[in-house]
Amino acid sequence: MPETNRFLDYAPAPESTAILNLRESYGLFIDGEFSDGHGESFPTISPATEAKIAQISTADASDVDRAVAAARRAYTRTWSKLSGADRGKYLFRIARLVQERARELAVAESLDNGKPIKESRDVDVPLVAAWFFYYAGWADKLDYAGLGPNPRSLGVAAQVIPWNFPLLMLAWKIAPALAAGNTVVIKPAETTPLTALIFAEILQQADLPAGVVNIITGAGDTGSLLVNHPDVNKVAFTGSTAVGRAIACSTAGSGKKLTLELGGKAANIVFDDAPMDQAIEGIVNGIFFNQGHVCCAGSRLLVQENVKDEVVDRLKARLSTLRLGDPLDKNTDIGAINSRAQLERIRELSDIGEQEGAERWTADCEIPKNGFWFAPTIFTNVSTSHRIAREEVFGPVLSVLSFRTPAEAISKANNTPYGLSAGIWSSNGSRVLGVADKLRAGVVWINTFNQFDPASPFGGYKESGYGREGGRHGLAAYLTSAALESSGRGSSSAALTTGVSK
Ligand code: NAD
Repeated sequence: MPETNRFLDYAPAPESTAILNLRESYGLFIDGEFSDGHGESFPTISPATEAKIAQISTADASDVDRAVAAARRAYTRTWSKLSGADRGKYLFRIARLVQERARELAVAESLDNGKPIKESRDVDVPLVAAWFFYYAGWADKLDYAGLGPNPRSLGVAAQVIPWNFPLLMLAWKIAPALAAGNTVVIKPAETTPLTALIFAEILQQADLPAGVVNIITGAGDTGSLLVNHPDVNKVAFTGSTAVGRAIACSTAGSGKKLTLELGGKAANIVFDDAPMDQAIEGIVNGIFFNQGHVCCAGSRLLVQENVKDEVVDRLKARLSTLRLGDPLDKNTDIGAINSRAQLERIRELSDIGEQEGAERWTADCEIPKNGFWFAPTIFTNVSTSHRIAREEVFGPVLSVLSFRTPAEAISKANNTPYGLSAGIWSSNGSRVLGVADKLRAGVVWINTFNQFDPASPFGGYKESGYGREGGRHGLAAYLTSAALESSGRGSSSAALTTGVSK
């Protein structure tokens, strides 16, 4: 037991799983009903214990056809004929049902994903409800979204999401698509399908017309069949840059409208005049929230040379107080790594960090016997050419670099193929605004980090993708109008630029 934890020993406080009413196996949710998939089924497991939770169907090509056909029928016959106000009523109903079943959803999310229950309970699920409430409000106001008069829905949206925020990413995709009048076929990640399937039950409870949302499960092959299906009009993908690039290639010239939310390697910049207590908490929240499985995580700490030692010492002291363990325990700060494959990737990149000459420090945590775990880790003596400073680790690993002047901070922060997010810590308002203006990142947080709001657009530059989710900007991805078409943003997909700001 680490020295600091001995005095702060908490009794176990696990959230009960009795609230869950899980099935032994789940089919595909197509046309308002569950039906078996024709691919080979697979188990979804708890990453904290490796115990099986449920058996999950795989959608093959015939199932993807069924799902897209159901979405097309629902689009033509029902959803596109409803008024915006009526679409909004369904979205409000879904939002309220998410709130009613919030505890159940939070427990299921922590069980399937491995994230601490305090995060799924206090962050993920409340934001899911907020996203549906927010876009419910837009459904009858599309004329005022800044896209010109009479914006029109696109048709059927194919959506593929990752495993780090399973239900939240689903909400980011489904809420704006439905508000704008589209129907949806969505595929959750293969390691975290559970909350999407519980969400399907919520759609039944909400009496959403059959086929408006179809949820199909499976791995990358199913995702590829979905995004390449000839009868979808829109593709929205969140995941790795490699897969995003493949989708950009395969959909190019197809006329499908495409948005890509990809990886990141955010700089969190700490100046010597920063409010230091808050900055330490912000750095911890920036990279250790959700085990660092966050596309916009502050994985590169850029700290001004004269306060570097102080910041690193304080960080180590703070990390030594974090509790790693059972994701369902209300006192847990660091949960399980989502999968064995992800754990191996984190280990591999961390070993490479050491081999390349960076200095590794790891918090002294007790690691549970079963499951996938990685203790919070800091690398110092990192240079901008090190792989841990360039590649997305997607785990609880922080690389510390230093700078002397604001110009050097900006140049190091922008020295990355990504451009999703950044953070600045300083008490000097004009310095903050001057630096923020020069960062090539879609989101810049000032004296805070990892704040999300449905009214605020989120998205990347360069290899972090294109398009925005959230706010009225997020509606543009699901609508077309004379104004959008004349600006060239109406339909077709663009190629993913490499290393070039858009
Ligand atoms: P991934 O790209 O491997 O998988 C994401 C999803 O794509 C999964 O559902 C997967 O089954 C599916 N998929 C895999 N191959 C496919 C293919 N050829 N065609 C279609 N679908 C395919 O990514 P991951 O490891 O699950 O997620 C982590 C990545 O997601 C990280 O890079 C992270 O930065 C990124 N991410 C980005 C954002 C954002 O908003 N920018 C948010 C969350 C995660």
